[in-house]
Amino acid sequence: MRALYSSRMTPQDANSGAGAGARLIDGKALAAKLRRETADRVAKLTERGRPVRLDALLAADPDGPAAVYAENQGAACAKLGIEYHLHRLSPTSEYRDIAGRVLLMSRDEDVSAIMVHLPLPDGVDSYSVQCLITPEKDVEGVNPANIGNIVYGRSSLAPCTALAVLAMIESTGVELQGRRCVIVGASDIVGKPIAVLLMRHEATVISCNKHTENLPALTREADVLVAAAGVPGLITADMVKPGAVVVDVGTSRVAQPDGSRRTVGDVDFDQVRKIAGWLSPVPGGVGPMTVAMLLRNVVDAVER
Ligand code: NAD
Repeated sequence: MRALYSSRMTPQDANSGAGAGARLIDGKALAAKLRRETADRVAKLTERGRPVRLDALLAADPDGPAAVYAENQGAACAKLGIEYHLHRLSPTSEYRDIAGRVLLMSRDEDVSAIMVHLPLPDGVDSYSVQCLITPEKDVEGVNPANIGNIVYGRSSLAPCTALAVLAMIESTGVELQGRRCVIVGASDIVGKPIAVLLMRHEATVISCNKHTENLPALTREADVLVAAAGVPGLITADMVKPGAVVVDVGTSRVAQPDGSRRTVGDVDFDQVRKIAGWLSPVPGGVGPMTVAMLLRNVVDAVER
């Protein structure tokens, strides 16, 4: 992704408007740009006789949120010229039905990209199913072989949220090599892959979790701070180094005094924006970039 500023800039340099508040890392705008780039690549592949196709498996409630997401995904694919095949299985399917379908998709030469919508039916272990997706087609980067390949620098099919976070940090123009990056949250699918991608850029990476002692002392030293704990308001202004790049992955639905619900991140946005150099909002930050990144991964898988 094109950097907006010189690649040698530090977070502090990049914040030339220091005092005026953080610059926004606009996930919606970055996602729109990424979708345009992806659509161009799809058009070129299609011209060369290589259709771009994503096969997704859905075995959840056909009226539930996973089904809505799967249908929206179909519409998003259509806009970019990506063929979308949704394999709908019953929400009472057993492991062998789901595993059998994933194995067929993995072996089918016409299928170049696979994803499995969660949740899976009760009693079906998602990890076991994800292990069956052939790594070259695993566009969500959930097969454990892919995270290993990421460590070795041999795959770009990393979990989409981690790729989204990296692209958002890179969009600020901050040079990652040697920078101190603190990641708050260390789950297998979000925090750990972010740490691995930052390590691949030779950043100095500190991974924090709910047992980390004196978290503010670590976050205050961070040139790049990634909040991915799922704890609303965890990152307050006094925990942020002036001029730092702050990316908020957290997505929580919290009740408002009027009874409505609002989506919020882990970062106290209004206070932290006075201190940080760059800050991503929630909503409109990592979320839309994650969705766009999955579609980029589809094209990456086809081009292999
Ligand atoms: P998780 O519950 O699996 O992991 C949370 C991690 O945060 C754990 O490592 C835990 O130890 C750590 N943690 C919890 N409280 C902490 C604290 N007080 N201090 C330090 N560390 C703490 O969650 P997850 O699946 O990794 O998701 C994290 C957040 O990211 C959630 O809000 C989730 O909704 C959001 N998310 C957003 C996107 C997106 O596209 N925007 C994608 C995935 C997840």
